[in-house]
Amino acid sequence: MGLPRQILLLGPPGAGKGTHAKRLGRHLDVASCSTGSVLRLEESRKTELGARIHRYLKEGNFVPDDLVLEIVCNWLRSVDAEFVLDGFPRTLPQGDALDRFLSETQRPAATAVYLDVPLSLLEQRVANRVGCDPCSNVWSRSQAPGHCPDCGGAVSPRGDDSVELYRARFAEYQRKTLPLLPHYEDNKRLRRICGQGSPETVFQRILTALDS
Ligand SMILES: [Zn+2]
Repeated sequence: MGLPRQILLLGPPGAGKGTHAKRLGRHLDVASCSTGSVLRLEESRKTELGARIHRYLKEGNFVPDDLVLEIVCNWLRSVDAEFVLDGFPRTLPQGDALDRFLSETQRPAATAVYLDVPLSLLEQRVANRVGCDPCSNVWSRSQAPGHCPDCGGAVSPRGDDSVELYRARFAEYQRKTLPLLPHYEDNKRLRRICGQGSPETVFQRILTALDS
């Protein structure tokens, strides 16, 4: 039996969902979508929808279910029945809505991959981040280029508030996203992965878990 080809990457912010979603998409040769980047794209378009999204992101808050749903379902309609989603679903209502959408459009149910990383390690990563403010590019201190490759600007440490902002996002993640795990577990559609270690190690764990 081959690997599942309808996959959701779940896990706390900063766990590496984006990196692994892209890589898994390439590995399986299916389209991958990062909800965060689709939302930021809409935000940058200065549309009315974009302005609404901007208000939530600015505060470090989650964008409401109906807005995200609209954007993700549009994306799912534009691709075939195979996909890797990163950053969606984020809440139980989104998970239910996704199940309904997939079944109504005759697509197979999705398998959830959960990247488990302890808060202490995630905070350490955030504290070590540097970035370019105008482009919102970030790197870990050890891998940062001397100048931003996009604008040539200076690369500097993130503000002192970044760990605090991260904690707020993590608390919201615990409250809203964690309840999704039993949802997928009950349906035997959850793969729990230890998200510690090098990206290569974690990726191999993901492939092994999907193959079981
Ligand atoms: Zn830049």
